[in-house]
Amino acid sequence: MPRIAVLPGDGIGPEIVREALRVLETLSSRFQLDLTWEEALVGGVAYDATGHPLPPSTLALCKESDATLLGAVGGPKWDNVQPSSLRPEVGALLPLRKELELFANLRPVTLFPALASASSLRADIISGGLDILVVRELTGGMYFGQPKGREDGGNRAIDTCVYTRPEIERIARVGFEAAGKRSKRLCSVDKANVLETSRLWREVVIDVAKEYPDIELSHMLVDNCAMQLVRNPKQFDVIVTENMFGDILSDEAAMLTGSLGMLSSASLGTRQTAYGTFGLYEPAHGSAPDIVGKGIANPLATFLSVSLLLRYSLGQPEAASALESAVAEVLSEGLRTADIAPAGSPSVGTRAISDAVLAKL
Ligand code: NAD
Repeated sequence: MPRIAVLPGDGIGPEIVREALRVLETLSSRFQLDLTWEEALVGGVAYDATGHPLPPSTLALCKESDATLLGAVGGPKWDNVQPSSLRPEVGALLPLRKELELFANLRPVTLFPALASASSLRADIISGGLDILVVRELTGGMYFGQPKGREDGGNRAIDTCVYTRPEIERIARVGFEAAGKRSKRLCSVDKANVLETSRLWREVVIDVAKEYPDIELSHMLVDNCAMQLVRNPKQFDVIVTENMFGDILSDEAAMLTGSLGMLSSASLGTRQTAYGTFGLYEPAHGSAPDIVGKGIANPLATFLSVSLLLRYSLGQPEAASALESAVAEVLSEGLRTADIAPAGSPSVGTRAISDAVLAKL
């Protein structure tokens, strides 16, 4: 029986996760998924209740589950918590990534044709919508490499970029596997003309490609990729890249869709379960303290995160596609929450747009 740890968190987290659970319930009965879930505290609410933003019982629940669904953490109430290591973002999100060994971040860049006007790009460049997946390595590279620090009285700074063959192999496999579930094209992004880590990256990706003869592999330098994403984004299907390049490119790509309330994300771990790969799924946006309790939060990024959960951790591509289609249909019929409605046009609240998605399911 697949088991999901549900961490609603702070701000609008509980409002959007509540709706996501209705979606899971409906999908579970329609596709006979037999899902079970258990909720636990995380973030500021956990700090208030237990003194720590990631209580041991919450972490234990995640470790015993097949997947974790997270709302959002943080908010003004906890911005000045001391020591700062107990602030929700630092004290909950970073340890979750580390403890659950989440090494692969998947960020779909989906521009629904109905939302084309929200994109930062001209209509002719994105006509028909966009569907790109950015796979980012999450635990290596410049952000973690040693040595790191200051010398010469603080006037010389050092960061070190390190990658090892096994680290590159495992993220490359995530890229190839993801491409295999989509249109079978993978673009590996590096800076092999300058960086030694990128030369190793390219060698290893080419080696791993031998295991995936049906996937078409290409390589692109990161500076060119940054340009191509805004010049001709439709050329991309799956992009796989290292930590820092992925950090920047996934945010650039996200803005091609123009709407924060629509962006989902998955972080996959090393643990294999009976149903797939363990992962943590969350909308890309934060806890939106400015709209808490108003009933207007857009739940669709969370729904799309649920669809990633079904696809990558529970091995249920049909249920995932049904949910994605339901979201696309609701949008194409013109229903919008305030954040994605054009200025001056009508919008609906969290409950109403969720009801519409449920009706499609
Ligand atoms: P935010 O994403 O919470 O909000 C930015 C803007 O987008 C706000 O105007 C908000 O109302 C709007 N918005 C965001 N999600 C929305 C949704 N689903 N529907 C409608 N409107 C939406 O970013 P922020 O304001 O910079 O951060 C607020 C808090 O969230 C901070 O404490 C920050 O640290 C935290 N945060 C948490 C995460 C996370 O949990 N993964 C990520 C980013 C920020």
